[in-house]
Amino acid sequence: MRLAWGVLSLTISLLLVMDLLLGLFPSEHERLRAVRERSALNLATQVRVMLAQPRAEAQLSAVLEGIAQQSDELTSIGVRRRDGVLVAASAEHERNWVPRPDQRSTLDAIIVPLQEPGGLWGALELRYKADPLITGWRGWIGGNMLALMLSLSTAGLLVYYFYLRRMLQHLDPSQAIPERVRAAFDALAEGLLVLDHQQRIMLTNEAFSRLYPSEGAQLGRPVSELAWLNDALGDAVKNPPWLVAMRTREPVLGVQVRITGEDGQTRQALMNCAAICDAKGNPRGCVVTLDDVTELDRANVRLREAMGELERSHDRIQTQNVELEKLANHDPMTGCLNRRAFYARAEPLFARAREQGSPLACIMSDIDKFKNFNDTHGHAVGDQVIQQVAALLTSSLRPEDLLCRYGGEEFCIVLPNTALPEALRVAQRMRARMEAEAGPGVTSVAGLRITSSFGVCTLPESQVGSLDKLIEQADAGLYAAKEAGRNRVRYAPGVQAALDVVKSSIA
Ligand code: GH3
Ligand code: MG
Ligand code: MG
Repeated sequence: MRLAWGVLSLTISLLLVMDLLLGLFPSEHERLRAVRERSALNLATQVRVMLAQPRAEAQLSAVLEGIAQQSDELTSIGVRRRDGVLVAASAEHERNWVPRPDQRSTLDAIIVPLQEPGGLWGALELRYKADPLITGWRGWIGGNMLALMLSLSTAGLLVYYFYLRRMLQHLDPSQAIPERVRAAFDALAEGLLVLDHQQRIMLTNEAFSRLYPSEGAQLGRPVSELAWLNDALGDAVKNPPWLVAMRTREPVLGVQVRITGEDGQTRQALMNCAAICDAKGNPRGCVVTLDDVTELDRANVRLREAMGELERSHDRIQTQNVELEKLANHDPMTGCLNRRAFYARAEPLFARAREQGSPLACIMSDIDKFKNFNDTHGHAVGDQVIQQVAALLTSSLRPEDLLCRYGGEEFCIVLPNTALPEALRVAQRMRARMEAEAGPGVTSVAGLRITSSFGVCTLPESQVGSLDKLIEQADAGLYAAKEAGRNRVRYAPGVQAALDVVKSSIA
């Protein structure tokens, strides 16, 4: 608008100067003077004809009076001889007329010389009313000039405004940006788009153009004409992020967009918008960046897949490890600890009990007359008997107790923090359950009677220095139980200190 005003002012000034210098527009003043001079010349011709007749003065005065009366502009008319004598005149002419020594006409006093064959006879004088409209500044400008100025101002302003607006939009605004700055923008990997406050594209960099090459730079056009960008926004197109940024004056960051390129391939990008505000804080435009994260996204997907696969294989390995651990440490037939695993767990318990003086019990158990089951019912039934016995022993123990299949049908048990009376009670309970439940538990053969013998040895009653010695003493108890007739519990016979307790427990 300011430019339009400027151009208009220049145009009007030029017109006025041209008028002054070249007289392009004849003024009202000049035009009127020409008209008056022409009619005065006509009148002068008639006056000359009348003067040629004898005694014409009185008649001429009447004619001049009539003309002056009829005219709105004329004040008076007179015919003066060369010697200054007024020969004929309308009323008041002598008084109205201001003599002009140079005999030159002005706008309101026209003088026409009257010639006769012998030379100058006199002059016709016409006095006009002074018209302020014509004699003032408007006279100089002229009616036409004024109309021209007014119409030029109105129409010119409109035409210049729209023309300049259109032209400025089409001028490449990016040309206003120094080459080195543009080169820096083009070096950015992110797509850059600068919008004005009316959402028109002011600038794009190369990375932005590459996102949809056929659309080109589109400078000066509304961003809404970039169909691919609007499609990429999805639902957000109703309230574009750059508009939100300009409205709120807060940056809008990390808007996910899916750009479908000309080749039909979709690309994932993150859009960031930041408003550009003037000194008063009013938004004048917006900087929009588009960060292509397609590769990052794909790498993330691959990473997630790999992580999933890793987790699954980790789970598989865990399961296999559990199985391996079970296989490595347990007897496959009964699920009891094997000897290696048993020793690995029992040794620390023994050492701690010795160190802290806390109680620890060891029980050896052996199925009575087991050979008979094998011999009578076959090896498979023998296996079932072993499994049944192992299950009963397991269910009679606490989680912290250790149960080991020590030999074919022989089991070794370690009970941490268990003193002698409790150990004997546990052994007795197991023995009783064996007698009552193990036989019926083997369903393949009816009426089996299964019993086991138990040998017990405990710390601190036994003063042994190793786990092996403790087991040995428990085994001696087992042997004693077998000797005593089987299906019974015996304490290690060599441990004198415990004998009294044992006796009272058994009793
Ligand atoms: P005792 O009351 O004195 O212990 O008599 P027993 O018959 O149980 O004595 P012995 O130790 O002589 O018999 C053990 C038998 O157990 C010998 C062996 O053939 C058998 N045996 C060892 N391991 C297994 C096994 O895993 N399965 C089966 N079915 N039999 C086994
Ligand atoms: Mg046996
Ligand atoms: Mg045996």
